[in-house]
Amino acid sequence: MHIKDILAAAKGPTRSFEFFPPRSPVAVNELQEALNMLAPWRPDFVSVTYGAGGSTRDRTQALVGELRQSDVFDPVPHLTCVGHTESEIMTLLESYAAAGVCNVLALRGDLPGQEFPEGDFKTAADLVRFVRRFNERGLHPSPQGFGIGVACFPEGHPATPNRMLEMDHLKAKVDAGADYLCTQVFFDNHDFHDFRARCELAGIRAPIFAGILPLTQPNNIRRMAELAAGSRYPARLLRALQRVGDDADAFRQVGIHHAVMQCADLLDHDVAGLHFYTLNKAASTVQVLRGLGFSSDR
Ligand SMILES: Cc1cc2nc3c(=O)[nH]c(=O)nc-3n(C[C@H](O)[C@H](O)[C@H](O)COP(=O)(O)OP(=O)(O)OC[C@H]3O[C@@H](n4cnc5c(N)ncnc54)[C@H](O)[C@@H]3O)c2cc1C
Repeated sequence: MHIKDILAAAKGPTRSFEFFPPRSPVAVNELQEALNMLAPWRPDFVSVTYGAGGSTRDRTQALVGELRQSDVFDPVPHLTCVGHTESEIMTLLESYAAAGVCNVLALRGDLPGQEFPEGDFKTAADLVRFVRRFNERGLHPSPQGFGIGVACFPEGHPATPNRMLEMDHLKAKVDAGADYLCTQVFFDNHDFHDFRARCELAGIRAPIFAGILPLTQPNNIRRMAELAAGSRYPARLLRALQRVGDDADAFRQVGIHHAVMQCADLLDHDVAGLHFYTLNKAASTVQVLRGLGFSSDR
């Protein structure tokens, strides 16, 4: 379903899950287990990451194709444009359109080094424009074409320290044709609420899905700080994690409790949707969904 229809059908905040394409047979089994556990929770959509520069192109496509075949998961492929030519992106869009994929998340992707790699795209806004032209040319079997999501950063993107300029760049993506925004992981809802208010002030009206990651292992903390380019952990959460020390089960419980409280507050504040970064594991996401009183097999 096009993202607009997903939102209309949900009649309230959506729930969705992110997966990455597995690399090894063991990882394939882990993902399958996660999919089996999460299927009864009937996500409104699921997303599949893409390695910048096309490093996971085939694996992302394969996983999206498999999910598309299921009658449970509506996959949204991530698509990064850095280092890609227009014809490479066109081929991917054509294959997704032929497979009946209805939405894509249009991203720039992280730069592999200091040099900007050769390619036809500089920013995610270029990719949004490209997908919109694809839609306008009637290349998607659905008259609505692809729904287009873009990334946003409640704590700010580290490459643009000027936060006003950053909002201009975000607005450019929405004006270019993005239908919705999905946030980077954040752990302090103040950042989200303030960001959403700044979007309103900037005239950005697209729905914003909140990216949630239940912290379940001590190494998640440093890893997310690296991947999410500087995640800010509220002192209250750090203190709670410090108190439990090396007790792995207690650590997990603290992480899940924090995610439940975060999500409950977001639901109280009319969030458009909760998007769970599952890291291809289901147990903690399921606990959070239960903690929120959601039911499976809705
Ligand atoms: C929800 C989500 C999912 C993600 N999934 C993936 C994934 O699957 N694969 C992956 O590789 N990465 C992924 N990322 C990471 C993302 O690709 C990087 O954070 C990247 O650095 C920014 O991508 P963007 O799409 O926001 O780029 P852009 O919107 O292009 O912004 C990139 C930077 O350029 C600046 N900028 C934008 N326009 C201009 C302009 N006209 N002039 C000057 N500066 C400008 C922005 O302010 C920002 O600092 C994801 C991030 C999020 C939040």
